[in-house]
Amino acid sequence: MNITVVGSGYVGLVSGTCFAEMGNKVTCVDIDQKKIQKLEEGIIPIFEPGLEQMVLKNVKNKNLFFTTNLGNAISDAEIVFIAVGTPMGDDGSADLQYVLAVAKSIGKTMKKRLVVVDKSTVPVGTADKVKITIQKELDVRGEDIDFDVVSNPEFLKEGAAITDFMKPDRVVIGADSEYAFDKMKQLYSPFFRTHDRFITMDIRSAEMTKYAANAMLATKISFMNEIANICERVGADANQVRIGIGSDQRIGYSFIYPGAGYGGSCFPKDVKALKKIAEENGYKANLIESVENVNDAQKLVIAHKIVKRFGENLSGMTFGLWGLAFKPGTDDMREAPAIYVVKELVKRGAKVKMYDPKAMKEAKEFYLKNVENIEYFNSKYEVLKEANALILLTEWKEFRSPDFEEIKNTLISPIIFDGRNQYIAYKLEDKGIEYYRIGK
Ligand code: NAD
Repeated sequence: MNITVVGSGYVGLVSGTCFAEMGNKVTCVDIDQKKIQKLEEGIIPIFEPGLEQMVLKNVKNKNLFFTTNLGNAISDAEIVFIAVGTPMGDDGSADLQYVLAVAKSIGKTMKKRLVVVDKSTVPVGTADKVKITIQKELDVRGEDIDFDVVSNPEFLKEGAAITDFMKPDRVVIGADSEYAFDKMKQLYSPFFRTHDRFITMDIRSAEMTKYAANAMLATKISFMNEIANICERVGADANQVRIGIGSDQRIGYSFIYPGAGYGGSCFPKDVKALKKIAEENGYKANLIESVENVNDAQKLVIAHKIVKRFGENLSGMTFGLWGLAFKPGTDDMREAPAIYVVKELVKRGAKVKMYDPKAMKEAKEFYLKNVENIEYFNSKYEVLKEANALILLTEWKEFRSPDFEEIKNTLISPIIFDGRNQYIAYKLEDKGIEYYRIGK
């Protein structure tokens, strides 16, 4: 099949590359000329395990192309995906300007029947807006060309995006024509070798499914963080409670790890957008609002533990920080707890020395760009020199089993604040290390 994917970020580039891997001819489009130029030179603008190799292979096989010209890209396409960003607008709702700009360009340039697929996470009713936008442009041109608008929300996880896309738990398709369902089924069938995991539904339900899925996962995290905060106050251990409740099959172990709060490009903005969708439709989403409030507070839990240990004024103190990315396996720092913790410590006069295997460029260029009193290092042990304590915020594998003797000998005082409960098993107190974690 001839496919066009508009938006070559985490979702667009991964989807396009995986479709190409299955033998389709895919053109990835982006408005960002530098990004497209880099991709044409074989430079992958994001870090995602396995992506670079797969992009290079499919470019070489002439299954994957890059361009900034949407009109050319869709001239031969049967399906066009919209995979541009839907960032949080000023009022918390999803900003649809990029999605609708793409819809407009499609309407202006399409020449033959197309299935237009919303892959971006968009509020319920967006497919209707996309349809109206395209139709308006066709009317201006005086053209009568058939098209379908489909909702196909994406569930991949950064850090495991290729595996998630190649072996999806399910593919959700919301459409209102047999033609569109058939096309989507043909496109996705190669991804289901053992059994069909294709879920078809109406368009609005598909749009809602994505928000419901992310809100559910965020709820599990905030729920467990709230339990952890109560545990700390009553002398219980949230880690033991986690194991105790996870063993119940109705609850399960996934997504109930207490920690420093969720971040990333999806949960924070999607939870906020869902709250806004409810509000705009006359419903106050109390649970969703609490999920967000608990998480906002949780991002600062480690900073509060530090203040409790060292006092309100941290001037003259230095902290060594391991982990900036919002989770391991990615360079993405959007809404990462590290941003909040670093800013809070610096605000209180502290200096922070930082190391992350992948996200330091992002931190330097964007998320901690104008923050003073921070320093970046290229190895995890270097940040500990002349530091009063170690803070762990992202559970990268290289942080999971460190040399505790070296940590102890390098820090001014052997203290660890573990925002991801990674070191519970090591009995650090017995090694002479003062150990603070979440939920105990
Ligand atoms: P991203 O910011 O990494 O990429 C978006 C890309 O779209 C950028 O490269 C941008 O230059 C490009 N773009 C913007 N306007 C354009 C236009 N008019 N024409 C062509 N390109 C344009 O975003 P992302 O993380 O890939 O997310 C995309 C969507 O997918 C969002 O709605 C997001 O919520 C959703 N989503 C993201 C993830 C994830 O893990 N990142 C997972 C599931 C769903």
